Parts: sequence; C-alpha cells; structure tokens
Amino acid sequence: MVRALLTDEGSRRAAATDRSGHRPATLPDAVVRATTVEEVVETLRWATASRTPVVPRGAGTGLAGGSSARAGEVVLDLSGMDRIVAVRPDDQVAVVEPGVLTADLDAAAGEHGLFYAPDPASAAISSIGGNIATNAGGLRCAKYGVTREAVLGLDLVLADGRRVTTGRQTVKGVAGYDLTGLVVGSEGTLAVVVGATLRLRPRPAATATLAAHFDDLVAAAAASAALTAAGLQPSVQELVDAAGLEAVDAARGTALRSRGAALLLVQCDGHGARTEIDAVAAVLAPFATSWRATADPVEAEELLAARRAVLPALERTGDVFIEDVAVPRSQLAAAVAGVQAISARTGVRIATVAHAGDGNLHPVVVVERGTPVTEGAPWEAACAVFDLALALGGTLTGEHGVGLLKRTWLHRELGEDSLALQRGIKAVFDPLGILNPGKGI
Ligand SMILES: Cc1cc2nc3c(=O)[nH]c(=O)nc-3n(C[C@H](O)[C@H](O)[C@H](O)COP(=O)(O)OP(=O)(O)OC[C@H]3O[C@@H](n4cnc5c(N)ncnc54)[C@H](O)[C@@H]3O)c2cc1C
Repeated sequence: MVRALLTDEGSRRAAATDRSGHRPATLPDAVVRATTVEEVVETLRWATASRTPVVPRGAGTGLAGGSSARAGEVVLDLSGMDRIVAVRPDDQVAVVEPGVLTADLDAAAGEHGLFYAPDPASAAISSIGGNIATNAGGLRCAKYGVTREAVLGLDLVLADGRRVTTGRQTVKGVAGYDLTGLVVGSEGTLAVVVGATLRLRPRPAATATLAAHFDDLVAAAAASAALTAAGLQPSVQELVDAAGLEAVDAARGTALRSRGAALLLVQCDGHGARTEIDAVAAVLAPFATSWRATADPVEAEELLAARRAVLPALERTGDVFIEDVAVPRSQLAAAVAGVQAISARTGVRIATVAHAGDGNLHPVVVVERGTPVTEGAPWEAACAVFDLALALGGTLTGEHGVGLLKRTWLHRELGEDSLALQRGIKAVFDPLGILNPGKGI
C-alpha cells in the first residue's frame, strides 16, 4: 500500500468534511495523502480491487459537501501534489499539479507579466484541482470566464487506475469529444485530476475601480443589470447587501455600511480602463446614492479584500448555509427582491452577496450556532431560494457544485432524461461507482 496512509482519528476527522457546514455522522476509514501520480494510481487500483469508495479532496474549502466522507470510504487527499511544473510565457500556459493553491499560480504567472484569470474569493486557500472539479468561478470571471475557459488539458487517473490525458497544449483543438470540458465540474465523480495545462493571459495594462453605494439592494441589482444591458464588460462586478457590509465592518473595522445599504464594486481593466469606468459611472448615477472611482491599486485591493471577506465575516456571526443560485442577468433585481421576501416570510436571516456580473447570487442563510441548516425553517428558506431561481429561468448552482446538499433538487432542474444520460456517462468512466459516490449526479 502507499506510504502516506493515515488512519489516526485526527487525520480522519480533518478530512471528513469541507466548509459547507455539512457534518457527516461518521468518519472515513482512512486518508491517503498522495504526493505522486504513482500513489494515486496505486490507491485507485486497490480501491477497485477491494470495491472501496474513494473521495478525492483538494483543500477542503468546498461549499456543497463534495469532499465530505464517511465510514466505509477512503479520502484521497491531493493537496500535497503542489508543484507548479512549468510556466511557459511564450505559449501563455502553465502546467501544474492539482494541489497548487490558486493564488500561488496567479502569483507565479505574475512574474512573467501574466495572470491566471479564475479567482474564487477563496483563491488564497483553494486548490486548482478543487477549482477544476467544481468549475469554480470568481470575481473577474465576469469578463474572463470560469475555470472551464482556462483549462486546456488534463492528466487524469480513472477509477481503475488507468492514466488518461485529455485536451491539448494548444489554444484551439477539436479532435474528439471534449472530455476536458466534461471532467471540469464533475466534482470528483468521473476521474481524479493529477495534472492540468492551464491558459494564462497577459496582465492588464491598467485597472480602474469604482465603489457605488445604494439605499437598497434591489436598486443596486437593477444598476448591475443596467451595466450589462448597456454593453459594458467590467472585469469585476460584485454586489454586497447591508448584512454582508455589517459583518465585514465588524470583522475588519471598516465603515462600509454607513455609506449605504448595498455596495456594487466594479473594476474595469486594460488600456481603456479609465474611459470604461467613466461609462460605468454614467450608467450607475441614476441608481446610486454615491460613488467613488479610483485608479490607485492599493485602494482597489482594499475594496476587493473587503468583498472577499464577506463569507468568512458572516461565518463569524453564526452557522451558515451558502446558496449559489444563478439567474439570467436581467433577473438579478427580481432574484434579490425574492430572497428578501423569503427571509421576511420564513423569519430566517439571509444575507446576500453576488457575483452580479454573472447573475450568480450567494444568499447566505445564517442561523444560531448549533442550529441545523438542512432542516426546519432554514432549509425551508433555502429550498424557497432554489424554487425562486428555477422560476426565474436560473440554476441551483452557478459555481459551488451540487455536492451532497443540492442532490435532491437536481432532477427538478435537469429532468429525468438528462439525468439518465449523465448517469450513463458516469457508468462509462466509473462502472463500479467507487469515485465520490452520492455526490453530484
Ligand atoms: C471563503 C470562501 C469563499 C469562496 N468563494 C468562492 C468563489 O468565489 N467562487 C467559487 O467557485 N467557489 C468559492 N468557494 C468555494 C470553494 O473554495 C471552491 O468550490 C473551490 O473550487 C474548492 O476547491 P478545494 O481545493 O477546496 O476543493 P475541495 O473542497 O477539497 O473539493 C471540492 C470538490 O472537488 C473534488 N476534487 C478536489 N480535488 C480533486 C481532484 N484533484 N480531482 C478530482 N476531484 C477533486 C472533491 O471531491 C469535491 O467534490 C469559496 C469558499 C470559501 C470558504
């Protein structure tokens, strides 16, 4: 068996769940902390021979219970495979192992005047393998697309231990079915990612950032939709409500809430950044109570850091269930108004933060510590948000994945025929069903 097999209770407890709030009743049997592809191959061959379910795990920052594991299962922890194998500026690609932290890759690309575009708010603590498995989004995905747009090729280990390479090192290529695109977002249910060839981009020549404040969240959401309708394409377009601002102020000593009940944070980049931010200001002016633009990167980073701090700040105020619905961007104001109505009707506290440029909302159900979030009134409120998103033509999950927690809702969005097709694909990759069972589809 592989060298890095851990069976002590501390290791099993540390690998039992993610940041979703899901608490499995039992612990996994063991944790394999792989540092080489050979160890991954060996683990999966053994798992196939012994019919043991395997739960791939990156950094454990997931918000859908995707890397939660229980008795009878073995966790395959890939965080130790953390080498940036190559950054090739001439081709604008990087080759990495799955455990590399997202922000570390971006920093390494920066040394060559490049950047890695997908930047989940968790970039400092989440892994590229986890980002690929969840098709993670982020702040600047409004302009540059989500993780799938940045993945050119993958090195995979299949459930039976076979190694497969998908995709390519070129920017274009259409040979065969797009297995790379299929594995991205598959939540560890089709294959284990042991390497990736990723697209980098030239760092923008300039950025300009604008913070707009509003009397209420619905006006801020309408303003965000107006930016899209006006044909503007900021690189960042993020919305935070009053509860989120209050939590950030308490955690960071800022005074954002005093400036309004909602904040829309917009960043434009490239040679025309200043001109574009002026156009943004003109569109927002009829909606906003005040706004301020800056070209100072330090001030801009302070604002972005405040946005990234919203979820951890809310986690300080109670136990949370973080929703991840997405709606067509023209429906953003209807969505936030609907969430407010659900909160008022159920009496459940819901704070909302959104990747507004993508129409991707994170209504955060906040409960007193120790209160279960997946039953009673909190779950009723969460389910009402799912219903609302589907009614507005949206989806249950924009970027966090289905994991464990949204599985019972999936047939409502996909329908039985599509689900059956997807289960057929799963059976081709993993006929014994040992890879992350009970997650995703
Ligand atoms: C404060 C905070 C902010 C966040 N902000 C964002 C955000 O802006 N955008 C966003 O999209 N998400 C966000 N997230 C959620 C989370 O960070 C992402 O889902 C991230 O992609 C998970 O990466 P991870 O390495 O932690 O994966 P894990 O949580 O370890 O695993 C996630 C899923 O990927 C699978 N997996 C992990 N590694 C592999 C691998 N090598 N091969 C196959 N399957 C694998 C697991 O089985 C699981 O299903 C946030 C989370 C937190 C705590």
